Amino acid sequence: MPELPEVETVKAGLAPVLEGQVIARALVNRPDLRWPFPENMAARLTGKRVIGLRRRSKYILADLDSAETLLIHLGMSGRMLISGHKVGNFVHPQAALVKHDHVVLDMAGGARIAFNDARRFGAMDLMQTDAQDAHWLIRDLGPEPLGNRFDETHLVARLKGRNTPIKSALLDQTVVAGLGNIYVCEVLFRAGIHPRRKAGQISARRIAALVPIIRDVLTEAIAAGGSSLRDYKQTDGELGYFQHGFQVYGREGEDCVTPGCSKKIKRIVQSGRSSFFCPQCQR
Ligand SMILES: [Zn+2]
Repeated sequence: MPELPEVETVKAGLAPVLEGQVIARALVNRPDLRWPFPENMAARLTGKRVIGLRRRSKYILADLDSAETLLIHLGMSGRMLISGHKVGNFVHPQAALVKHDHVVLDMAGGARIAFNDARRFGAMDLMQTDAQDAHWLIRDLGPEPLGNRFDETHLVARLKGRNTPIKSALLDQTVVAGLGNIYVCEVLFRAGIHPRRKAGQISARRIAALVPIIRDVLTEAIAAGGSSLRDYKQTDGELGYFQHGFQVYGREGEDCVTPGCSKKIKRIVQSGRSSFFCPQCQR
C-alpha cells in the first residue's frame, strides 16, 4: 500500500507529463472505484489544462484551469501507468488499454496516463479548488509531517494524556497526516519507543524527539523514491512502488540492525495491523 513517500514519488513522476499540459481526452471506463466518480467526470477533465500538482496526505491534487481540482487516491493497489511520452531521446510507445485501466487521460502532448487499480480501493474526485479544505477526505486531516505546522508543540499537545498505544496515536490522521503503518514502525524503532507504550505515558522530551525522526524517515524514503524514479524511466513506465531497506518493517525473525544488539525483530498485531520492533532497543 503506497504511503506518503510513494505518493510523493508518483506525483514527481506525473509532473513532467501533467503540469502545464492539456488533457485532450479523458476516458472513464466505469462509474466508480472505491466511491462513485463525480458526475460528468470525463467532460469536466477534457480540454482542461493542469496548472499544478500538489500532495496532501496520501492524495495527489491536480489543479485545473477550470478552477476545479482533481483528487487522486491510489488506495491499496492503484498504479499510474505512463506511456507515449518522451524521456531523453526515447519515447515509450503509447500503451494499449489493459484490464483495470479505469481512468485514462490522453494528454495533448502525446502522453497517456492510465489509472489502473485491480482491487478498486483507489478513488478520484473533483472539487472546487478554493473549497478543497472542506472536502470530506481533507477537512479533518492534521498537519503535513514535512510542513511548518507540524512541530514539537503540536505533537506534545496532541498526545498528552492519551491512553492509546503510541503506534495508534501516530496513525491517527488528525494528529499528523499521511503517516502509515510502515513508516510508523520505522519511526518508533529509530526513537527507541515500544509500539505498545501508551502515548500519554511517554515524556514530552521523547515525544518532541519524534518530530525530527518522522521528518528524517520520510525525507529519506522520498529520496529513495526519487532514485527509483530515475531507474523507472529506463524501464516500463509504472509509478509508485519501490523497495526500501527497512530497519524493522517486514523483518520479523531477522537480526536487529543496532550494533551490539543480539535480538531478533518481533512482530505483533495492533488494531489489525502488524507492528515490527526490537524488544531490546524499544522500550
Ligand atoms: Zn535491537
